[in-house]
Amino acid sequence: MKRRNFLRKASQAGIGITAGIGTAGLLTACQGESAEEAITTSTDCQAATETIHWKMVTTWPRDFPALGTGANTLAESITRISGGRIQVKVYGGGELVPPFEIFDAVSSGTAQMGHGAPYYWKGKIPAAQYFAGVPFGFTAREQNAWLYYGGGLDLWRELYAPHNLRPYPTGNTGVQMGGWFNKEINSLADLKGLKMRIPGLGGEVLKRAGGTPVNIPGAELFTALQTGTIDATEWVGPYNDLAFGLFRAAKYYYTPGWHEPGTTLEAFVNQKAYAALPEDLQHCVDIACQAANLDMLSEFTARNGKALTTLIQKHQVELRQFPEEVIAKLKQMTTEVLADLANADADSARVYASWQAFSKQVKGWTDVSELAYLKARG
Ligand code: CA
Repeated sequence: MKRRNFLRKASQAGIGITAGIGTAGLLTACQGESAEEAITTSTDCQAATETIHWKMVTTWPRDFPALGTGANTLAESITRISGGRIQVKVYGGGELVPPFEIFDAVSSGTAQMGHGAPYYWKGKIPAAQYFAGVPFGFTAREQNAWLYYGGGLDLWRELYAPHNLRPYPTGNTGVQMGGWFNKEINSLADLKGLKMRIPGLGGEVLKRAGGTPVNIPGAELFTALQTGTIDATEWVGPYNDLAFGLFRAAKYYYTPGWHEPGTTLEAFVNQKAYAALPEDLQHCVDIACQAANLDMLSEFTARNGKALTTLIQKHQVELRQFPEEVIAKLKQMTTEVLADLANADADSARVYASWQAFSKQVKGWTDVSELAYLKARG
């Protein structure tokens, strides 16, 4: 039996795993050949049943709600869908390598898989920021539509390929919160001189507004805010912000998260490790990542409301909304930041062109569907 045929059969068995066939299905596929064919496929069969051990390094504290646990769920899915043939061990940020060194660790093969957010690598790949999300840009559903059906993921893979990485969207936070402040934001002048933890393109916009954006790992946020190393911070939304206790270090909680309207989290796999997998196991990894993407968005959507109530009622957090005038100016500055980034970097120009073209057509549909419905629902 030719290798291609075997792989097709193994792939079919892989699909069967979800119906409970698992490794047994693969063994049947191997054993079901004639004696002559069995000799030629024995190496393939051994390879197919060999256990592969992967390390997954993450930017998150171990087991951190939704983000760290999302990485755990993804690792478990890969193991279960593969019928145990791929074992993935998850490392929290700092356990194997520091949070912001996971990109290099997976690129070099120290680990086979990483879990983080694309905008953390803007120093290496400025265009990666688009794959996380754009201020005043796509919602979670629009972001997924661009990535899966609008050419976004193809561009993302192209840009990570020289780094020996294959990226996947593996989660989305939905609309984030605007952040934690110890003073009210009544005008753009209140952002001047503000030292705030805010990553990605949102940070670039804050810089244009006269603030100082910094990016520090989540685990260091509370201390940085409490000790005054930073004046303000954003993190994710009520569920995650409650977990870090940020309400103990700041009084005002602002909405909306104009800077992150639907941030995509990522996993990436070392390309050589991926290429070494038989086709059915590659498919297992692909499908597990796609499932993780939906699962995390669902979890955030389910848990944020209750956490927001806890923050307001139990911890007396004061909810505030950015004034319309501030939002309008930040939106204008976002347009300038995006244009400047495209002018300064050819890859960013290409990704921005794709993003803009998709934005035009998807926004027309969103306006007459989601937006019209949300207005009607009230
Ligand atoms: Ca954030």
